[in-house]
Amino acid sequence: MSFEVLDKDLAGRIGRLKTRRGVIETPYLFPVINPFDTTITVKDIEGLGFNAFITNILHVRRALQERKVIDVHDLLGFPGPVMTDSGAYQLLVYGEVDITPEEAVVLQERCGSDIAVILDYPTGTTSYDEALRRVNETIERARALQQIKSDETVLWVGPVQGAPYIDLVQYCAKQLSTLDFDIYAIGSPTTIMEAYNYESLVNIVYASKTILPLGKPVHLFGAGHPMMLSLAVALGCDLFDSASYILYAKENRYMTPYGTYRLQDLGYFPCSCPICSKHSPQELKEMPSNPRVKLIALHNLYVLASELKRIKQSIKEGSLWEYVSMRSRAHPRLFPAFLRFREYKSFLERLDPRTKPSLSGLFFYDFHDVFRPEVVRHIKKLKNCLSGLRGRTLILVPRKDTPTFRSFVEGLIKKVDEMSKDGKEIKVLFYDYPFSLIPIELDGFFPLSQYEAPYELDPLSKAYVSSRVAKLLRIFEPRAVLLYNDVERWGKYVEIACRKSCRVVKVLRSRELYTPEDLENLSRLARELVEGQ
Ligand SMILES: [Zn+2]
Repeated sequence: MSFEVLDKDLAGRIGRLKTRRGVIETPYLFPVINPFDTTITVKDIEGLGFNAFITNILHVRRALQERKVIDVHDLLGFPGPVMTDSGAYQLLVYGEVDITPEEAVVLQERCGSDIAVILDYPTGTTSYDEALRRVNETIERARALQQIKSDETVLWVGPVQGAPYIDLVQYCAKQLSTLDFDIYAIGSPTTIMEAYNYESLVNIVYASKTILPLGKPVHLFGAGHPMMLSLAVALGCDLFDSASYILYAKENRYMTPYGTYRLQDLGYFPCSCPICSKHSPQELKEMPSNPRVKLIALHNLYVLASELKRIKQSIKEGSLWEYVSMRSRAHPRLFPAFLRFREYKSFLERLDPRTKPSLSGLFFYDFHDVFRPEVVRHIKKLKNCLSGLRGRTLILVPRKDTPTFRSFVEGLIKKVDEMSKDGKEIKVLFYDYPFSLIPIELDGFFPLSQYEAPYELDPLSKAYVSSRVAKLLRIFEPRAVLLYNDVERWGKYVEIACRKSCRVVKVLRSRELYTPEDLENLSRLARELVEGQ
């Protein structure tokens, strides 16, 4: 196996991709190098934390013809892993490319490419029928590779085409999955990215990821903006490539993890990379074009490298959800993509690890966070562990992670045990945002022991939790519910939910929670409920 996963969070992972010229730690972004453009070279970039590059096979062919360089590593002046792209991008932009699929395979092997891509046929923005034709052509070329290739040490990439048509993406992913590629790729997002259609990108990545073999790394072509990298990683993309760092620099566009600035609009550099520490925006504006483009390009690469490190750290500490959710506020067109991402909660729950290091616990902010895998998993689990509630009396207590709450619960359990003859009639449960109901026996286990949430909740969060409570009560049909209502926080939300789903409901409303008086009153109401049975 050339790919090994070290850490996981959501569908994202930190992995090791072994190539014959060294290991690439993923998620990784290959800077695109044009050997015929000397504005920026591998030598300039190497020190920034990039240890693998991508170049186009058409450049390599030109170099072979002109300079008689026979190896792509000599051409770039770099001995480490080099990926070559097959010319499909030119096919997408110019509608044609002067290379055959067979030639692309032979040439990439001959020039020593460590990671090579078949000449796929990008679908771009064509009609459905034309897209289908191109998908079939891509599949045929992928099959043909098995007969043409001769060097087993090259890692081959199989690009999924079909976007923006989801059924074609699925069809292509299914066909390519039967062929044993080392890496899979998602093609054609360039046009979608240029239109800032991140929502569509999420759909395409999801459609591909649910079909492609999970053990293989996935490359997302042409997605090189730091703003959206975390979202793509969280969906399971491991590799990226981008020429954007230099293309942006040529237009004096300065990248930040939360958007792009034009150099002329900057009074200060919001960055402390070596370039921004040494120069002011004014100095750069006054510089001749050549050194300026190079400096902006280097800054852009620093931003991309730092963003990848932040994403990896988030995966390591289990806070990728928080990170993606924060980044998605960078642009109004990115936020709908996060809303779409959220909708794929079952997929995320399936791939998300069951336990996490969570250095500081999970952070929940608002309604959007009820979609995170830990909550989805908890609700699933509740359906099993609440099955013994039928016909019993429930006491619902608002949960707070404080000593007063703990000793209140201890006192309550003691009283409940006294009045419940065989210890079975009454069951105490906690309720809280975002987990809705929490059985005492689960409290204290991850993630229920380690989470932080605001006390003041937005109405959607309150509505979500109370609708969950209502749903669960309807499923498990307790005989009666005694609600200890934290009215400051919940108002009437949980109360209405209980009344809607159970016939016998008593409520103790409290503004100052967990007092000895409340304990007495709650016990008295519980006794009344049990005796009235
Ligand atoms: Zn900088």
